Amino acid sequence: MTTLSGGSRPDRARLGPGRAEIDRWRTAAEMLDAVRSEPGRTRVELARDLGLTSGSATEITARLRDLGWVTEERAPCGGRGRPTTKVVPAPDGPAVVAVDVRFEGWRAALAGLDGVPVAVRSGRHAVRDPDRVATDLAAVVTGLVDAHPGPVVGVGVGVAATLVDSHLAQASGQGWSPLDVRRIGAGLDLPVYAGNDANVAGVAEVRDGAAAGADPALYLTVEVGIGGVLLLAGRPQTGARGAAGEFGHLPFGDPSLPCSCGAHGHWDSEVDGRALARMLGEPEPDDPYGYFLEVLARAAADEPGATEVIGRAAHALGRGTSGLVNAHDPEIVVFGGLGIALRHAAPDRFHDAYVAGLMAFRRDDPPPVVDAAHGADGVLRGAAAIALDHATSAEGLAEQAA
Ligand SMILES: [Zn+2]
Repeated sequence: MTTLSGGSRPDRARLGPGRAEIDRWRTAAEMLDAVRSEPGRTRVELARDLGLTSGSATEITARLRDLGWVTEERAPCGGRGRPTTKVVPAPDGPAVVAVDVRFEGWRAALAGLDGVPVAVRSGRHAVRDPDRVATDLAAVVTGLVDAHPGPVVGVGVGVAATLVDSHLAQASGQGWSPLDVRRIGAGLDLPVYAGNDANVAGVAEVRDGAAAGADPALYLTVEVGIGGVLLLAGRPQTGARGAAGEFGHLPFGDPSLPCSCGAHGHWDSEVDGRALARMLGEPEPDDPYGYFLEVLARAAADEPGATEVIGRAAHALGRGTSGLVNAHDPEIVVFGGLGIALRHAAPDRFHDAYVAGLMAFRRDDPPPVVDAAHGADGVLRGAAAIALDHATSAEGLAEQAA
């Protein structure tokens, strides 16, 4: 995820803190990361785990407390050593705003250090026009900032579109002109971080979902097309222009079929709602996601044509997944979105194609394929996580302290 500046910032903040100032916050960032990933450790445990003297741990805890991130609670006396305190996220401490921008509507929420979306708001776009969407969402973000009693230190955005140059959301296949996501933070003195919806949902899964702790992890989702992300050490691999993970545009399809991206023969054209319509000889749907659900229901009702095309799509999904596993050697593959229902609707077709496509040495012990844990909250959780990643980094803490 790339850092994006939203809104106007004072000159000093725009230049950012100096290197020495950032270095001064590195150990604090490590401690805050430890509190974020495992809240409730005592100050003594944190000092031991981070290799700090007791005095350093006390001083760093005080600095994080001054910024509002943590508070200390008396820890039960363990019988050995001196009394200590538990370091826990402060109630009403700094928060981020998370925004999930979809074709038809949006969700937005606040999230504190635990990354759990709260005060969730949602709505439909009044007009499917990027200018209007950006203006409306900026107002939603401002409302959430005003509602939070503590400071808000960043905005994370997950957008259901290809993200070009890390800020231009392009959903040209659905007739949208590009949306500049930086405008969602317009008027606020807040940094904006953005990823496409599949990228950020993958982040949520690897942090505390179905892929927790796996490295690397591969997240794949079917929405309108196939997206996903490779996660290395819990971090999304987003590419030079923020547009990595466009797995639906791998050439795993019929080379004669045009793709909405402008090329031919892509994986999307074998798997998604538009693919199902083509295989069934039905008109291209206005809402490929809704149409996909409709065909799944028809297959569940034993309509032969629907059952056949769902099987073909599951086969294509399994075959392509094997290619990505061969390339990336993930510990686990997590499916989100319609990929979950597609795999469960034709499990044998998926599994046979998946295993057949794997290199022979992988077939005895293929990486497990599992369902996402966070469901509809994945994008909000991931958007919160990418904003918190920056806010709790040494650079982010130095900015807050400036
Ligand atoms: Zn394509």
